[in-house]
Amino acid sequence: MSAPANVAILGATGSIGRSTLDVIARHPDRFRAYALTANTQVDELFELCVALRPPLAALADARAADTLRARLAAAAVPTEVFAGAAGLVALAQWPEVDAVMAAIVGAAGLAPTLGAARAGKKLLLANKEALVMAGPIFMAAVRASGAQLLPIDSEHNAIFQCLPPRASSGLADCGVRRILLTGSGGPFRTRSLAELAGVTPDEACAHPNWSMGRKISVDSATMMNKALEIIEAHWLFRAPPAQIEVVVHPQSVVHSMVEYADGSVIAQLGHPDMRTPIAQALAYPDRVEAGVPSLDLGRLGALTFEAPDFARFRALALAYDVLAAGGTAPAIFNAANEVAVAAFLRGTLPFARITDVIEAALAGVPAAAAANVEDILEADRRAREAASANAGRRFARSA
Ligand code: NDP
Repeated sequence: MSAPANVAILGATGSIGRSTLDVIARHPDRFRAYALTANTQVDELFELCVALRPPLAALADARAADTLRARLAAAAVPTEVFAGAAGLVALAQWPEVDAVMAAIVGAAGLAPTLGAARAGKKLLLANKEALVMAGPIFMAAVRASGAQLLPIDSEHNAIFQCLPPRASSGLADCGVRRILLTGSGGPFRTRSLAELAGVTPDEACAHPNWSMGRKISVDSATMMNKALEIIEAHWLFRAPPAQIEVVVHPQSVVHSMVEYADGSVIAQLGHPDMRTPIAQALAYPDRVEAGVPSLDLGRLGALTFEAPDFARFRALALAYDVLAAGGTAPAIFNAANEVAVAAFLRGTLPFARITDVIEAALAGVPAAAAANVEDILEADRRAREAASANAGRRFARSA
């Protein structure tokens, strides 16, 4: 029997990181947590290192890394600790690492995720922001290194499962008519614009079906998450934007669908539990137990679908606009959203202003060609500046 695959988990202390560790723990013969990373949460990473004894760990925050190193030494845990952005990239590219779970939230994940792509790893992509920011550069790196890219986002994982293997070279030859990207519509699906004015961070993070980190929870509430996923689907599946459609499906049981030229629609269903796509990708092409119960369709009764409301959830239309603009536009879109969501979670920007801040950044920062990562990072920086200024100004006006 072969040795277990060594898995690096970027963002091990987060929602996806924890679910990944849960699946790994069910299959010690197949997978080993080899490298774990976090940003600042020393206590959580320390506990994981004590319990799992990974050979490597890293914290993006250098002082937190010093603390972790000292505490592990005192506890006689032989995990080697790395620090900073360079430390994360080193772990993502480590020769003994077979598979990388990219589960850092936001643009901070770009460098290590791209690093794993360049190193030709089996790359399990949850960090959609990295692909949104740098789609063409990212996909070129995957092709050049021969990395195996497997989507973790439940929708893209579903689409991957509904497509034939040869779709990896594009949809044109597979008779695909449309990709139907489902979205629950988030916690505010049925609220009017006026009712959205005073919602709190805790309300926005109370997703009806999924338990997730706070940033993606707010993204779900604005449907910015679906907007980022439109862009993600475009790059992952080489799908023309006109072939990607969003369908609101409040139960989150159908995770997405692919429609073919003959009228067949193939869907992937399952409980809204991220351990399913994580297990699917970790074990691919095998199938393994993920701890997810069987779907009881009789008990579920009805699955419903509706068209998305582009007027209330403007981020959806913006996704198609930034895809059409190309270059650095998606990076500007993503960065402005990150700033606006952080301001909302801090309580300094009203929920209803998040999309305004994104639109203002797109209008204020001209999109340019993106020849390399530096171009992307420069656009990201400028968008953050513009969005920070707008977030403050708009809130002042509305207060
Ligand atoms: P969480 O907020 O729960 O976790 C984020 C992880 O990233 C933590 O380990 C955190 O470390 C780490 N991190 C945060 N900032 C930095 C930084 N600057 N440098 C290095 N590491 C950092 O997020 P989720 O698990 O919810 O989401 C992770 C990614 O997966 C996102 O891109 C999201 O869109 C995607 N995704 C998530 C789903 C879900 O169900 N949660 C579903 C589909 C996609 P620390 O704990 O120290 O802060």
